[in-house]
Order: sequence, then structure tokens, then C-alpha cells
Amino acid sequence: TTFDALDLHPALRQALSAKGYAAPTPVQAAVLAADHAGRDLLVSAQTGSGKTVAFGLAVAPDLLGTGALPPAGQPLVLVIEPTRELAMQVQAELSWLYAPLGARVTACVGGMDPRREQRALAAGCHVVVGTPGRLCDHLDRKNLTLGALRALVLDEADEMLDMGFRDELELILAAAPSKRRTIFFSATLPKPIVELARKYQQDALRIAA
Ligand code: AMP
Repeated sequence: TTFDALDLHPALRQALSAKGYAAPTPVQAAVLAADHAGRDLLVSAQTGSGKTVAFGLAVAPDLLGTGALPPAGQPLVLVIEPTRELAMQVQAELSWLYAPLGARVTACVGGMDPRREQRALAAGCHVVVGTPGRLCDHLDRKNLTLGALRALVLDEADEMLDMGFRDELELILAAAPSKRRTIFFSATLPKPIVELARKYQQDALRIAA
């Protein structure tokens, strides 16, 4: 299959072809299957499988709503990553993917200047990519609010639990609107992940790619 077989916004097609990506990876094809649109997903996928583009494309309709992208404000999509390195990588990946849409992607990560992030959040964005501790700091300080959130992605969920971020994740999940989309990506699906998913997802579909 090619990306043409998928129901993608023309701006996203443009970004993919500019990057030279012609065909979806297996995880992308699975996540973007037509009957998965709008659904909560629990996806087991490894790093290097193309999972960032998979969730980036999957939440694009949440970003766009019924028409055009709204002005930058509080985030519509939040992506949580275990480490600063991964968060920066994902921010870079979503930035080129969403560039033709005009979406602004801001990072909130431990070890970076929090005042700079505060200014970026105040200026407005569409997507925030962050690490659990720093996201909680910004929520505490009201630099970040999740009232406008339409979709939440927990990437490397098993890794985040292993690193001891359970409380932070629960705090963030609880701060998000109840009417939202929640997508979990995890290399492995041990019991704590399945339980977290059961608690915070609705009628989730399991995908193994
Ligand atoms: P990830 O699993 O998200 O870390 O992605 C691994 C690498 O594969 C990244 O450099 C992506 O930009 C790249 N990639 C993602 N989707 C595709 C695709 N459909 N075709 C070729 N490369 C891709």
C-alpha cells in the first residue's frame, strides 16, 4: 500500500512526499486503518517502527476538527515521552509533518529553561510534546492548561512506568478533559500498562504491529 490509499489531509500528504516517504510502515498502516479513526488505541510497537509518524497522522483529524486549524492557543494535542531526548526527537518529527498545516509544536522537557517554555506556551501552540515531570510543573504553575485538549498520546508507556512516572502520568491524565482521545504506545504490555489503559481509555482497540 501507499499513503494514497489512506484518508489523509492533502497537507500531510505533501509533508510525507517532501520527506520522500512513499509507503506506510506496518505500524502506520495498522494505526491508520479506516475503522481505527477516532478510537482510543493501545498499540504495541518498537522504536524505529515509524510510530511517531503513526500517531502524528492518527491525531491530525483531532487537531483539524471539522475544518481548518484554529489559532494557536492552549494545546489541542499532548504527547508525553519518557526522556528529553525522545521528546526533542518527536517535536522535530511532528514539526516537519505538521509544517504544511501551519501547526505549532512546543516542547516542555526537563533540563531546559522553564521560562522559555513558559513564554512559548503563553504565545500559543497546537501541540505540546513533553516529559512527565516538566509537564506537571507547568500544570502546577498554570503555564499549561489542558481544557482544550482533544487527544493525548502516551509514548513508550512501559518505559515511563519503569522510570517511576506513574503519579505524574495519572495527574496529567486526570487534568485532561474526559471527552478526548487517548492513545497508548508501549513496546511491551505488562499488567500495569493494561491497568492504566483500562482506567484512562474508553473502549480501546489493541493493535500489535
Ligand atoms: P520512529 O519509530 O518514530 O522512531 O521512526 C523511525 C524512523 O523512521 C524515523 O526517522 C522516521 O522519520 C522514519 N519513518 C517514519 N515513517 C516512515 C515511512 N513511512 N517511510 C520511511 N521512513 C519512515
